Amino acid sequence: MTSVKQHFCELGDLLDASDFLREIRHHLHRHPELSLHEVGTAAMVAEYLTQWGYEVTRNVGGHGVVGTLRVGEGARSVAVRADMDALPITEESGQPHASEVKGVMHACGHDGHTTMLLGAARQLALSRNFSGAVNLVFQPAEEGEAGALRMIEDGLFERFPCDAIFGLHNQPGVAAGTLLFGGGAFMSASDRVLITIRGRGGHAARPQLTVDPVLIAGSLIMALQSVVARNIDPAAIAIVTIGTVHAGIATNVIPESATLGLSVRSFDAAVRDRLRERITALVSAHVEGYGGTVEIDYELGYPVLVNSPAETEFARQVAEELVGPAQVVFPYGPVTGSEDFAYYLERKPGCFLRLGNGVESPMVHNASYDFNDTNLTVGAAYWTRLVERFLAQPL
Ligand SMILES: [Zn+2]
Ligand SMILES: [Zn+2]
Repeated sequence: MTSVKQHFCELGDLLDASDFLREIRHHLHRHPELSLHEVGTAAMVAEYLTQWGYEVTRNVGGHGVVGTLRVGEGARSVAVRADMDALPITEESGQPHASEVKGVMHACGHDGHTTMLLGAARQLALSRNFSGAVNLVFQPAEEGEAGALRMIEDGLFERFPCDAIFGLHNQPGVAAGTLLFGGGAFMSASDRVLITIRGRGGHAARPQLTVDPVLIAGSLIMALQSVVARNIDPAAIAIVTIGTVHAGIATNVIPESATLGLSVRSFDAAVRDRLRERITALVSAHVEGYGGTVEIDYELGYPVLVNSPAETEFARQVAEELVGPAQVVFPYGPVTGSEDFAYYLERKPGCFLRLGNGVESPMVHNASYDFNDTNLTVGAAYWTRLVERFLAQPL
């Protein structure tokens, strides 16, 4: 017979909590906080966790919160992470729960991620159907500020040991409730390059007396695409996107300088190194060839996110048990976005997965985006069951 404790981790039971979770999510959505400023969100998370009997540690790596719950004598431990920060976007979703903070919006669904993990926190505390320790990691500053690394550098894994770590991100364009898994290199490394080309400015009518940085920039825009086309193995994935081009203020003036901003993505350390080497060499030689000088600011961002095979398979099995094979996709990806969860996976085994946010959902970082509330109970039930299964395994 199914015990009351086991009964709690079923999806249906969490449906009872759906109104409660929706309220939390809408509250977070109305009050979004930018990276490194998640004060109110962290306080709310800490308050709930305390209420539910967790040992709560605040201010881990900034506004990070860790909730620890120990049950029984089990020696195993597991961590599950949610991110909490919002983006500098003015919301245009038209939702009744739209942001009340001008110019700030939960456009990446981190309000949903936080709420799902809170739902699991509540359920795990109610059912206490495991033996060991669970650390629920509420992370700040995922959007470009490497909150994961900040928490790690503040002793996350020493202070809150875990055998593995899990996390997820919602995925627009895929049916809500569908869980997507990929083993190995799952999400890309993301590097940022700022190229400042300096020439010699002057009159538009006397170009022979100038070194035109606009012409050099134009030529470079085309030449840079040759790096992926001709220097990288066609079987590997690499992306060079020139996202910003800035030069000049008047049609009759050749400016002194021009800048290009690049986003460079890869899924393999060797490819990442090769991209850096080739972009740097090509840009330097190219600009010099035209008689200009150049500064290259090559900033390495989040590393490749690599899921470990055993934990990915485990996480996939838990998903199949919960929602059935029809709503589980494996293998999925690779995904060309990047995630600071990669830093955790450089140190611990684990799996980062995606959860469909609806076929019609606008993409994340779009002003019309909204997290799909039907996922709240799915995510909460999934994390509950994953923790219970992980901490039920023999050592
Ligand atoms: Zn984002
Ligand atoms: Zn995100």
